[in-house]
Amino acid sequence: MRKPFVAGNWKMYTTSASAVELTAGIVKGLGSEDRVTVAVCPPFPYLSLVAGVLRGSPIALGAQNMHPERQGPFTGEVSSAMLLDAGCRYVMLGHSERRHKLRESDAFINQKVRMAMTMGLQAILCIGETLEERERNQTETVLDRQVRSGLSQVHKEDFKNLVLAYEPVWAIGTGCNATPDQAQQACALIRQIIAELYGENPAQEIPIQYGGSVKPENARSLMSQPDVDGALVGGACLIVEQFLAIIRAALPG
Ligand code: PEP
Repeated sequence: MRKPFVAGNWKMYTTSASAVELTAGIVKGLGSEDRVTVAVCPPFPYLSLVAGVLRGSPIALGAQNMHPERQGPFTGEVSSAMLLDAGCRYVMLGHSERRHKLRESDAFINQKVRMAMTMGLQAILCIGETLEERERNQTETVLDRQVRSGLSQVHKEDFKNLVLAYEPVWAIGTGCNATPDQAQQACALIRQIIAELYGENPAQEIPIQYGGSVKPENARSLMSQPDVDGALVGGACLIVEQFLAIIRAALPG
């Protein structure tokens, strides 16, 4: 049985005060509930601050990005060691806003995935097609390419440090979520690609989240699909009650 995993991507929102308030609200609302894995991914400057508020709660800390080198002259960048130092367990990699707005390539994302795993961070590898690709019936080809290249030189043994997130670009921040059927089909396809590459066991064990306009109203129908193991949430994770409702919707039964 795969445990559901709900993560909140705060993107470039919050202030130090609202980051603390948001975190404290989620910590209080979640209590000791641990049937769902929950992570929050604040902006870099608030990681340590949020880590302090999370202390003692079951909620994990994640970052939204990292650089693939260990250290060096990379002005403005943040390394995996720095994320660990700040208390992170997860790092999101290949988010569509970085792939498309910042032109990150599959190869660059793969370097980050490998470094994150080497360092013991859990990589949340985000993949997904654009609207144009979907309309041209290229969804399968795009997902296949993003999985294979994103996981190039990643070994079965590293899978304990890997989560996949299917995030169709057309659903992110648009209010237009994939239907439960579309989410299921894509997540099942991703699992099938993993099975081809690594075998049936790793494919059955790996958590695959759906992301793209997840709200309390659609969360349960999306996450109850057999191959959808939780959600990566953007907008709705900035509102305590909405994020908590999405987490509750992931609870078994
Ligand atoms: C995201 O940022 O990964 C995301 C899914 O955003 P939203 O929930 O706002 O669509």
